[in-house]
Amino acid sequence: MKINLNPNPNPLPDAERDEKIAAGGFGKYYTDNMVTIDWSEADGWSDANLNAYGPITLDPATAVFHYGQEIFEGMKAYSQPDGSISLFRPDANAMRFARSAARLALPELSVEEFIETITTLVKQDRKWVPKKVGESLYIRPFMFATEVGLGVRPSNMAKYVLIATPAGAYFNAANAVTVWISTEYVRAAIGGTGEAKCGGNYAASLVAQKQAATKGCDQVVWLDAVERRWVEEMGGMNLYFVKGSGKGATVITPKLTGTLLPGITRDSILTVAKDLGYKVEEVMLSIDDWRDGVASGEITEIFACGTAAVVSAVGAAKSEFGTWTTGDGKPGPITMQIRETLLGIQHGTIEDKHGWNVKVC
Ligand SMILES: *Cc1c(COP(=O)(O)O)cnc(C)c1O
Repeated sequence: MKINLNPNPNPLPDAERDEKIAAGGFGKYYTDNMVTIDWSEADGWSDANLNAYGPITLDPATAVFHYGQEIFEGMKAYSQPDGSISLFRPDANAMRFARSAARLALPELSVEEFIETITTLVKQDRKWVPKKVGESLYIRPFMFATEVGLGVRPSNMAKYVLIATPAGAYFNAANAVTVWISTEYVRAAIGGTGEAKCGGNYAASLVAQKQAATKGCDQVVWLDAVERRWVEEMGGMNLYFVKGSGKGATVITPKLTGTLLPGITRDSILTVAKDLGYKVEEVMLSIDDWRDGVASGEITEIFACGTAAVVSAVGAAKSEFGTWTTGDGKPGPITMQIRETLLGIQHGTIEDKHGWNVKVC
């Protein structure tokens, strides 16, 4: 695949760009360029282009508007101490994108091609990668059905698009999120799309997010669809529970049962926690285990993890059955240590023992 380079002839002037990067936030400003590739059943992938960032014009009868055949990824480019730029485990995102595509009956882009689109855009827009630790360039690849017509069938045309936005360090070390454990709504059931990163999962989750807000909570925690008992994940992040403290602590995360989104941050923390000397377990954990563990003091810390926020502490949990708060409700020491270690690896200040960083330029 050859990506034609037609970069934006009028990139944002340096001063304005740096102002936008310094403004922080997430998803407010986008880089000067984007990559698009078209697919059709007849011709496969074609027309790979890097062009100026801008609107996409689509026929109102385009399939994605009606039946939601869409997938996406989320990953980051990190500035390194020597001035170079690295991606973190881009092969893992590429493979997950291909699995999501298969589940949504969309065409698969090869791992190499997926990564090539990302290195092409990051190289072109490298000045948009923030320099400070905790800041990064958030990269959003997505793909959607572009066949025109209202017939319900897998689309015979699709479009892949790649955009990027500078992401500030919005972590507040003093804050833990409050979560609403939903027993009314579910995110995913066995056989559904829970393992795929698709827009539809999010569309179906928003009403629960709204409900959580009315209960004074920041995020929703999802339980399994069948028993409404087993803890799955939180909003768009996976969950971790710490039992005990100090070197003898065990770091636990809900097992992947087919309904959880297999997070790359989750997977990386399994390794990082082990490297730090903790015991690590992937288990089924119920809301009773959560409540009782917090009450007895066995569960000492809870945190959520994902590419966007890396690691965020979870403080109070509310549900129909009451409210229970972990520890003093503030981010705990193991949460902070895991966060700092992962960020350090991503930013090149801690040795990358597992070869996770891939240099772009
Ligand atoms: C993307 C996502 C995550 C986190 O995955 P990472 O690869 O760590 O960013 C967790 N849960 C859901 C529902 C997600 O969409």
